[in-house]
Amino acid sequence: MRTLLIAGNWKLNPTTAEAAVALAEGVKTGLGTATDVHVAVAPPFVFLSQVDGVLEGSPIGLSAQDMYWENSGAFTGEVSGSMLVDVGCTHVILGHSERRHGMGETSDIVNRKVKAALEAKLIPIVCIGETKEERLGERTEAVLLEQLSGSLAGLAPEQMAGIVLAYEPVWAIGTGLTATPEQAQAAHAFIRDWLTKVFGEATAARVVVQYGGSVKADNALQLLGCPDIDGALVGGASLKASDFLAIIKAGQEVTAGGKA
Ligand code: PEP
Repeated sequence: MRTLLIAGNWKLNPTTAEAAVALAEGVKTGLGTATDVHVAVAPPFVFLSQVDGVLEGSPIGLSAQDMYWENSGAFTGEVSGSMLVDVGCTHVILGHSERRHGMGETSDIVNRKVKAALEAKLIPIVCIGETKEERLGERTEAVLLEQLSGSLAGLAPEQMAGIVLAYEPVWAIGTGLTATPEQAQAAHAFIRDWLTKVFGEATAARVVVQYGGSVKADNALQLLGCPDIDGALVGGASLKASDFLAIIKAGQEVTAGGKA
């Protein structure tokens, strides 16, 4: 029922357009025309147009890593949803922990961006997740509740069904630490349960919820095999085409095994 989405968040990498094009070409060539899992890459803003050119004719989606909620005007340094669509974007990552914790982005701000992204016809990938201190303090569920209800406030079930969520425990991002499949599945089940309560069972069953946090070729199969994990948001391992393709292959294997 849900097709897995494997998305690569390139963050502030690579450092040249040439390297970005080469990385996109590597992923495109390796994936070919396969659509059994959905794939997207999220380069820095400045490389979006060139990467879009590379991805032409491929099923790979193009994602931005952030956007602003206003469409135009005196907002120096910002980029709008309609601009992203104009350069070929299909998705936009919102509320990544590096923005929530590094740049003070609140759930209210994320909510404004989610609504603007939907308005622009982009698929938002909304990130949520607890810090190490919050997990150790047994506040994981309270944090997820705040981020879910704040970031997704005021949405209709039909809008929610078109949003991707990414559960990314902050302590697992870029650290080499990964949530165990049991820890990840428990958080995903909690998220699915919340979606069911707020938006109804039919909508909850349609929402793709990715896991993110040091996903690599050697842990992808186990994580993606969990019933409520519908893909991966991949940082470090998306910067080398062969590593990213190995994670996609794990997604294809669990899909072929009848997971979706
Ligand atoms: C991320 O950036 O969303 C992420 C999960 O990074 P990493 O895979 O490097 O932990």
